[in-house]
Amino acid sequence: MAKKLPQIVADRLFTNMYICVKCNAKMRAPYAKVKAGKIRCRKCNSNKLRLKAKERRGQKV
Ligand SMILES: [Zn+2]
Repeated sequence: MAKKLPQIVADRLFTNMYICVKCNAKMRAPYAKVKAGKIRCRKCNSNKLRLKAKERRGQKV
């Protein structure tokens, strides 16, 4: 059984957290900046980011 995170913890983990599509680096940035393309991955310099997935994959079979 998966432990459910308290809402405040989930907010901290997922709000404004983005993942680099190329190298999977995590970074925190405001949505407006990401959308404007101002955020780049600090590792690979890509600006392809996705939101951190809020649920783990592969739990529903
Ligand atoms: Zn990257």
